[in-house]
Amino acid sequence: MNESIDTRCVHAGREDFSRLGVHAPPIDLSTTYPVPDLDVGTASFDALVGGAASAANPIYARLHNPTVARVENAIAQLEGAEACVAYGSGMAALTALLLVSRQRGAHMLAVRPVYGTSDHLLSSGLTGLECEFVRADEIAARIRPDTALVLIETPANPTLDLVDIAAVVAAAGTVPVVVDSSFATPILQNPLAFGARYVLHSATKFLGGHGDVIAGVIACSETDAKPLRTMRAATGALLHPLAAYLLHRGLSTLALRVERAQRNAIELAQRLAQHAAVRKVFFPGLGTVRNDAVLKTQMRGPGALMALDLHGGHAAAAAVMGAVRILTPAVSLGAVDTLIQHPAGLTHRVLDDAARAECGITPGMLRISVGIECVDDLWADLQQALAVAERTTRMPQAA
Ligand SMILES: *Cc1c(COP(=O)(O)O)cnc(C)c1O
Repeated sequence: MNESIDTRCVHAGREDFSRLGVHAPPIDLSTTYPVPDLDVGTASFDALVGGAASAANPIYARLHNPTVARVENAIAQLEGAEACVAYGSGMAALTALLLVSRQRGAHMLAVRPVYGTSDHLLSSGLTGLECEFVRADEIAARIRPDTALVLIETPANPTLDLVDIAAVVAAAGTVPVVVDSSFATPILQNPLAFGARYVLHSATKFLGGHGDVIAGVIACSETDAKPLRTMRAATGALLHPLAAYLLHRGLSTLALRVERAQRNAIELAQRLAQHAAVRKVFFPGLGTVRNDAVLKTQMRGPGALMALDLHGGHAAAAAVMGAVRILTPAVSLGAVDTLIQHPAGLTHRVLDDAARAECGITPGMLRISVGIECVDDLWADLQQALAVAERTTRMPQAA
């Protein structure tokens, strides 16, 4: 497709609507499909278990579902990928990729920080891969003959550090690189264009966009999609067709939501940087995140996530969480409403103290996922919540 990404968000995965005579994606809830011709059924079964995107007969919903395939096709178009494979969550998608990669070797590299549960999955060795955490500039030196995968997250959760995708791809040589691009969305960044082999999204976040779907996707080449589909069929980490429908509906407003949320975030980041209670605002473009310069070369905008470090430390952060009225004090991100959470106490709780310190996650850090509300209402709410925090932390200790 040559259309702009705004048009693709609205139309991708809907190309056959006029032929079908529909205006919304049909939802197919079948768990099994009739097999009147056994030869066709057998050939279809072999093809789907082997990782084919579709077959003459879908056979069984763990092997193929047309509603899921439709949203996969749409997301592949947004990422400029040949294929996309959807799972029941972002973590299920990452697990499938790790299990597939385990067949290439037993070692992998990752650059911190990453999403807390991704960090947990990688450090635990649960999938049989030994993960070494390195700095981006150490990758070339740490690649081993059995290194199966390099994982980066950019912008990274929760510090908004950026990682230079092209530099990591060059350092990794023949080892595949996966980019968790959940914070950027395909609106702001297309990692495959910089040589990444896989793009991973927690589609629970911006792609779904309304806080009502848990989903994960990996966009990649058709060759790389086949083993991922085989793994999905074997392990059953499926996306339900009703969730696929909601995800597809969310995609149609993705460009609009990201644009508006980003505009709000740029405004709030500037105002928060001037606030007396705020020690530092981490936001791409402000010069406060690692590799800030790659914002201009690999992204089309800074996005809608930021982190604050408060002078008042943990007590101030807790006070803000308790005082906000329009912002929702909750984990997750990328929804239409603004969410605020405390990485050290919630999303990155599973890291040990040393790993949290290495990632730059402080007790006074709050992460904000800016939504599409009126920015002045968000600012007023943050001002009153920060005022509560300032009073709380200034209060003399009770005798
Ligand atoms: C939320 C998140 C995940 C995990 O996705 P789920 O859909 O919650 O399983 C992975 N990576 C990033 C960057 C995330 O924010």
